[in-house]
Amino acid sequence: MRIGRAAGQTDTGRRRLRNEDAFICEPPLFAVADGMGGARAGEIAAGLAAAALEEAGPETLGAEGVAALIVEANRRIWEHSLADPQTAGMGTTVTAAVVDAEAGTVAIGHVGDSRAYLLRGGSLEQLTTDHSLVAELVQSGVLTPEEAERHPQRSAITRALGTEETVEVDGFTVVAEPGDVFLICSDGLSTMLSDDDVAAAIDGAGGDPHAAADALVKAANDRGGEDNVTVVLFEMVGAEGPAEIDPAAAEHEDESGPDTLEFVAAELEPEESSGGHQVAAPRRFGAGPGGRVAALLLVVAIVALGILAVYLFLNR
Ligand code: MN
Repeated sequence: MRIGRAAGQTDTGRRRLRNEDAFICEPPLFAVADGMGGARAGEIAAGLAAAALEEAGPETLGAEGVAALIVEANRRIWEHSLADPQTAGMGTTVTAAVVDAEAGTVAIGHVGDSRAYLLRGGSLEQLTTDHSLVAELVQSGVLTPEEAERHPQRSAITRALGTEETVEVDGFTVVAEPGDVFLICSDGLSTMLSDDDVAAAIDGAGGDPHAAADALVKAANDRGGEDNVTVVLFEMVGAEGPAEIDPAAAEHEDESGPDTLEFVAAELEPEESSGGHQVAAPRRFGAGPGGRVAALLLVVAIVALGILAVYLFLNR
């Protein structure tokens, strides 16, 4: 299995002056952080979390590895807030996913109320449990999920990154299937849209992460855009077989051509921007050029072996 298309997008929304969300869309690493704190502290906290995750790189696999990354991010934010009194008390949520394509697994770690969802076979499943006041009240039976959605304290979180010296991280691993679409988002999406709306937006985009990201951000803003909204989506697809060495397969491989071209075009195309709107450059891994290079190397190796065989034969 491998990671297919991926896209990330963040938008200030319609009510907030600044965007304190941050995201990472660098396969195999994907994350969303939603900062909080006075002045620009929320932006700083979310930025520090994203930087700490990015720095660690993709060799961190498994739920424990992701959790360790998040603990390290917590330490950095905490220390920054001690050193700079203006940022005292700042914090951020974080939900991070690291894909192990070979194993076909997605390791997820999270703190706070940014969520991870999985869209599989048309149905949307929330993978993470919010560390929020209302989620705890729902779990203990005090509130119904419907009451929680309208609760005035629904954005109060019970766990954050950077507000204390240590943090408890929830971590788990999902076994992926070809066709899976994973979504990580800030509460600016999940408080504006129901799960059904989210599923419909992704389905309506034909599962294309770029179109889905556009549709989700637009839908959140259409409903009021009360908070910064951030989405990161990636799809898992079946691995291509090693058949690229025979000519028939090489022709077959051309079928993925338009996809690759589409990707290049998407990267060059100036992204539409509507105030504070940032779009990560989409990245594509595993397929196109990489596959061709591997096939070429294999052909070169076979030819080299052939020459060696002829050489050894002639020298007998
Ligand atoms: Mn938020």
